[in-house]
Amino acid sequence: MEILRYDIAILGSGIGGFTSAIHASHHSKGRLKIAVISKMHAMRSHSVSAEGGISGVLYHGKGDSESLHAYDTIKGSDYLADQDAVELLVRNAPKEIKFFEHIGVPWNRGDDAIIQQRAFGGMSIPRTVFAADKTGFFMMRALYDYTLQLKNVDIFHENFATAILMNKGRAAGIFMIDLATREMKLIEAKSIIIATGGFSKIYGFTTTSHSTTGDGIALAYRAGISLKDMEFVQFHPTGLIPSGILITEAARGEGGYLRNSDGRRFMEDYAKSHMELAPRDIISRAIMTEIGKGKGVLHSESGLEHVWLDLRHLDKAKIDERLPMIKDITIKMLGIDPSKEQIPVRPVAHFTMGGINTDIDGHAMLNGKRHADGIWAVGECGCVSVHGANRLGSNSLSQCSVWGRIVGIEAAKNAMSARSNDAKALHMQAEEEEMRITELLDRKTGSDPYEIRKELNHLMDSLVYVYRKTNELKKARKGIERLRKECDSIVVNDKSSVFNTNLRDALETSNLVELAAVVVEGALKRKESRGAHAMVEYPKRDDKRWLKHTVAVKKGSRGISISYSPVKITKWQPEERKY
Ligand SMILES: Cc1cc2nc3c(=O)[nH]c(=O)nc-3n(C[C@H](O)[C@H](O)[C@H](O)COP(=O)(O)OP(=O)(O)OC[C@H]3O[C@@H](n4cnc5c(N)ncnc54)[C@H](O)[C@@H]3O)c2cc1C
Repeated sequence: MEILRYDIAILGSGIGGFTSAIHASHHSKGRLKIAVISKMHAMRSHSVSAEGGISGVLYHGKGDSESLHAYDTIKGSDYLADQDAVELLVRNAPKEIKFFEHIGVPWNRGDDAIIQQRAFGGMSIPRTVFAADKTGFFMMRALYDYTLQLKNVDIFHENFATAILMNKGRAAGIFMIDLATREMKLIEAKSIIIATGGFSKIYGFTTTSHSTTGDGIALAYRAGISLKDMEFVQFHPTGLIPSGILITEAARGEGGYLRNSDGRRFMEDYAKSHMELAPRDIISRAIMTEIGKGKGVLHSESGLEHVWLDLRHLDKAKIDERLPMIKDITIKMLGIDPSKEQIPVRPVAHFTMGGINTDIDGHAMLNGKRHADGIWAVGECGCVSVHGANRLGSNSLSQCSVWGRIVGIEAAKNAMSARSNDAKALHMQAEEEEMRITELLDRKTGSDPYEIRKELNHLMDSLVYVYRKTNELKKARKGIERLRKECDSIVVNDKSSVFNTNLRDALETSNLVELAAVVVEGALKRKESRGAHAMVEYPKRDDKRWLKHTVAVKKGSRGISISYSPVKITKWQPEERKY
């Protein structure tokens, strides 16, 4: 085992990870040694696929304000967002958009050279800044280029982390496998930032990349860190049939319509004033209600029912300028030119609102009250509670950027003052982890990780989708429990040392199964419908009993202890959502 020493270890190189690396480096004036770890080449991080844009108030003269952005976000969250965190988000998002401008992101501009903003769901006014429909790619390219110039930051591409190591409740190190060689490594660090993205891959029908397996969340959970609001998984209304590839909300922001099998714009029955630009939870429920009423269209090849996204009335030049990737995707995947034909879409797992329980500074919590010293979470893996029960589109990239700066600075301050860890205890923990991986590789027979993952995806797609029922959730829980047992005897058939993707897949599968169990447990307990969690038996939001966050802590090898923590309300009292 190789041992490497850094001041800060950042697990993840998406927009959250890279932003925090840059700000940690700036804050320490280049003095701290920083490691950024990614299980694939950093530029393949999931953030590159973000399409529609990043939210922030740029122009006050046009009727927009931070207060309106906060209100939209809180109402969109179905009042589960922590309002102090939302206020922090909207106050700082404009500064971060300018920061990205300065490091080279080519934001779309009008003929007057002013940065343009497009409409997004649940936002009262166009406030989403964009770079065509490839926003994430341009942001990642700028971040990567910038980070490469920082002499104190080392990037570990294609290193897979298997454990976060703590010493007496304090950050100590990260254990990882170099995928190119299978060499095992320990990175010692005084500060750890977890930035490993979401876990939508618990579903088969999802917009997210193969890498979105919630590893960092599962590692934190096993290390004793609590998770928050895991039952809230966002279903984006427009997943392309049958692949699940995202058709960005920008398509509706630019004027696209949703139609049922009668050709009717059914959103007027569900959100008369916002229509196709209502929040995602409301549109996804509406689509599934239409399908339930027999107003869906059957896609014979996949057996899935869908509705139509209609862009035919949009100016062709507008599609070419603002939605080039969507056009490319529909032509390549289905042979559909969106200016001539409608696009078949249905709700698809897209974003995970829940994740590592943090305070407003992104500092991870061991349980409801105690911090995990020296550990922060940022981006989709962290639940700082700005999205609550339903994220508004384009708020994730602002969250990654705003908290990237916050946690980068906090982690740097900690690393500059913290004492060194007990090396002996840490090395013993690392040796145990090395033994666990070696035993896994030595196992000759056992459960097939691909079968486990296939079954998990089937359970989640069929039983834990847009509308949930108690008996179906119980069925899912039972199935997941069985899969968790199978994970104990998972086998890696490929014994090679070079790019052993079979080993990586087995470890990711165990992480997914562990997290799915927490999702289902939280969903079963929450007896109301709020945002992305819609229960057939409890169709209404119930603020009296359920205006609270779900907090999950791992108990023993398979137990899940659920408790609740209050939602922070500053100015906006919960009210009925009308769009
Ligand atoms: C198709 C699509 C389009 C989207 N468009 C938008 C949009 O327009 N606007 C918006 O606000 N949001 C959008 N989102 C959401 C947004 O893209 C994500 O929430 C955000 O990019 C997540 O960034 P992140 O930094 O948290 O993590 P990611 O970009 O997911 O990066 C995770 C990092 O962690 C690393 N990692 C994970 N596990 C391990 C491990 N075990 N060992 C080592 N490294 C590990 C990965 O290698 C990677 O570097 C979109 C989502 C999808 C699916």
